[in-house]
Amino acid sequence: MKTTDYEVTIATHSGKIDQDQPTWETTFQVPPYIGELQIRIAIGAGNSRLAFQIFDPIRNRGFFVPWIPQEWSNDITLMLNENEAERGLEKGPIVAGEWTVHVSGIPVRDTSSFDMEIIGVCQHPEFDYSWYKGDLHSHTNHTDGALSLDGLIHTAKSAELDFLFLTDHNTISGFRSNQNEDECLVMRGVEITTPLGHANLFGIKTMIDWRVDGETRTFDDVAKETRQQEGLFSINHPFTSHLSWKQWNMDLDLVDCLEIWNNPGHPANEQATEEALQKWDELLNEGYRHTGIGGSDSVHYGFKGEHRPGFPSTYVLANGLSEHHILKALKERHVVVSKGPFVESVLYYEENPFQVGDIVPVNEEEENVIIETSTAFHESKVLQCVKNAELYEETEVSFGNESVLQVRVKKGDWIRIQLRDAEGKLCAFANPFFIE
Ligand SMILES: [Zn+2]
Ligand SMILES: [Zn+2]
Repeated sequence: MKTTDYEVTIATHSGKIDQDQPTWETTFQVPPYIGELQIRIAIGAGNSRLAFQIFDPIRNRGFFVPWIPQEWSNDITLMLNENEAERGLEKGPIVAGEWTVHVSGIPVRDTSSFDMEIIGVCQHPEFDYSWYKGDLHSHTNHTDGALSLDGLIHTAKSAELDFLFLTDHNTISGFRSNQNEDECLVMRGVEITTPLGHANLFGIKTMIDWRVDGETRTFDDVAKETRQQEGLFSINHPFTSHLSWKQWNMDLDLVDCLEIWNNPGHPANEQATEEALQKWDELLNEGYRHTGIGGSDSVHYGFKGEHRPGFPSTYVLANGLSEHHILKALKERHVVVSKGPFVESVLYYEENPFQVGDIVPVNEEEENVIIETSTAFHESKVLQCVKNAELYEETEVSFGNESVLQVRVKKGDWIRIQLRDAEGKLCAFANPFFIE
C-alpha cells in the first residue's frame, strides 16, 4: 500500500502555433487523489506571445500569460492545488477527470513551439478524505415545500446531514448561504421543472431559463449553460410515473448525474428505482460514466409515507466540506446512496485500495480483484455484486462483519455493489469501479 505523496506523469505533449493554426489545445485525464497539478512548459523557438488557458472537468481555472519582462523565462511551471495557484489561475481542489489546456498566440508572430509535461502529486485518500452525508434534493416554502429554509436546515441537522442542496422548482429565491459551522452546509441548486422532465442543477450561480420545449430550447441548452456556470446537471426521478424523464434523446455526455433513488416514500418509487438502476446499467454498458445519486425530494406538504431529509442519504468522499469539494466528489463518482447508514466498499488490486467510482488500472487483460464491504445496518443484508449489468455474485453481510468477494475482471468491465433486504428491497447502492 502506498502511504506517502508521490509524483506521477499524467501526460507529455509537444505543440506549436503559427498563422494557420493560431491556437492549440489538448485534453488529459487526471486520476483521483491528486493534491497538486504542475503543468511544466518549456517554450521553444518562435516569438509569438503565448497564453495558457486551463479548464478542469467542472471549472474554468483561469488564464496565464508569461508576458512580464522581468519574470520572463523559457521554463514555466503552472502549479495549482487546493490553497495556491500560479497568478491568473484559481486555487481549489484538483478534480479527477478530463482537463483541458488551450494555448493561443496573442498575437501570433511566427511559428512558435513548446513542450509540456503534466505532473500530478498524489495524496493517499486515507489521509485527507472523509465521507460526508448529505441530501441532493430538497424544497422549501419558496415553492411547494412545507418548511422555510431554517426549518429545513433544522430537520436536516436532526438527520445528521453534513450538506444539503436546495433545489426548489424553477427558482433560487429561497437560497441564502450559511457560514455557521454548526449548521449543515446549504448549497445553491434548482430543480428545472418542465412537462418533459425534471433536472437538478447543482452549484449554479444564477437562475437558468427553464422553459424547455424540446425544439427551440432543449435540455442540451440547459446542461451547457449549467457547465458554463460550473455546475452539475442531474436527471431527476427518471421513471417516477407522470414525473418521468422524456428526453433520453438529449446529449447524455452533458449529463453528470442520474437520480437513481428519489423519495423512497413515494408510492411509485420502488418500481421507479429498479427501472432507474436498469437504465443506469445499460448506459454504463454503453460506456457512459454518470454518477448514480439519491435525493429525498423533501419536504412536501401532506405527503404520506416516509418523506424527510436524508431519506435516502447520499454519502460522498471529499477532502473537505465546501461546494467545490462536494461537486468534485460527485463528478468523481465517489458516492454511496443509502436509506440507512453508510456502506463502505473498497476494491483492492495488488494490495492498492480503490474507492467506489474509481478507475482501476490493471496490468493483464484478466485479473482478480478483491472487494471488501462492511455495513452499519444492524440487520443482515444481501450484498449483490453487479458486473456489466449482470448479477455476478450475492452473499450475506451483517453488522460488524466484513464481506470479502473475489471478482475475476477484464479490462473494460465495471462492477458495482448494492444491498437488499430479505424481501429484495433496495437498501443501498454504490457507484461502480471501472477496470481499465
Ligand atoms: Zn421533480
Ligand atoms: Zn423535487
